[in-house]
Amino acid sequence: MFIDYAKIYVKAGKGGNGAVAFRREKYVPKGGPAGGNGGNGGNVIFVADKNLNTLLDVRYKRKYIAQNGQPGGSSLKDGKNGKDIFIKVPVGTVIKDAETEEVLCDLDKDGKTFLAAKGGKGGKGNANFATPTNQTPRYAEPGKEGEEKNLILELKLIADVGLVGFPNVGKSTLISVISEAKPKIADYPFTTLEPNLGIVRYKDFQSFTVADIPGIIEGAHKGKGLGLKFLRHIERTKILLIMIDITSENYQKDYKTLISELEKYSKVLSKKKRIIGFSKADLADDSTIRKIKKKKIDDNIPVVVFSAVSGFGIQELLDELWKQLQD
Ligand code: GDP
Ligand code: MG
Repeated sequence: MFIDYAKIYVKAGKGGNGAVAFRREKYVPKGGPAGGNGGNGGNVIFVADKNLNTLLDVRYKRKYIAQNGQPGGSSLKDGKNGKDIFIKVPVGTVIKDAETEEVLCDLDKDGKTFLAAKGGKGGKGNANFATPTNQTPRYAEPGKEGEEKNLILELKLIADVGLVGFPNVGKSTLISVISEAKPKIADYPFTTLEPNLGIVRYKDFQSFTVADIPGIIEGAHKGKGLGLKFLRHIERTKILLIMIDITSENYQKDYKTLISELEKYSKVLSKKKRIIGFSKADLADDSTIRKIKKKKIDDNIPVVVFSAVSGFGIQELLDELWKQLQD
């Protein structure tokens, strides 16, 4: 299982202090108490959002501190409440207390919210404390502290894109170049090969995951290497990037071998939507690249030529993957 993980600190705003003030009017020598209430501190609230796929954004911004409430003013003016912070996370995010590991909330539905840190209440102004025996109280309540917590966020990830290719075609290099973060990978019993997953930031607030599918070609269909659990997991991949080395002697043969291995390994995988990617474009000349782009390896299957080393074609590759993921 791939698990995206983030540890963050949240702090709600402090309540504003209540004010000590007195009415000041012409010809009224001693006005009554007129100190306003402090505003409440802002809350920190999580919101499940179906448009997000990973915890990439919360991973990078790790501290969330909501605004304090404003203090009360004179003339019974109340302070403004601090603004709430809304943290958007993908549907399926589980929030745990970092100290106790207790599950605090499972954001399993789009739009579901969780109040993670409540803002401190604003203090009451001295106008609230007048009594028949004390008409001019010189006392107001201070604002209360906001809650603060260290939290762990966890999300089970599905690999959006699976990489399929012979050893040395450049799968690991590609993942390292296009991904910003590597999630935790839970133990796979019976697995000797380590799957490799990266989170790709496509554009602001958009990201997808790419997984190396190791071992398919190394005889995995015969039961070697990968466990069933892992297989089930990668079968949920949305598309496959079939990688072919541009320096190979026979592209057509490579492609056929890969597809027939896939079929032997998993019917589900072999029927997935796919893209053909020629790797190591830096090792080919322009005319070879032009020829490949014109060539039909397989009907209606998009072809992208790229180099993880020089960066050539990488943006085009990401655009094509994103486009296919949206369909
Ligand atoms: P994997 O077995 O498919 O994961 O392949 P790797 O990513 O480990 O790469 C195999 C070899 O190819 C390594 O020596 C890489 O440095 C090299 N390689 C990977 N991508 C490129 C590329 O775009 N251009 C060139 N020239 N070499 C590459
Ligand atoms: Mg590798």
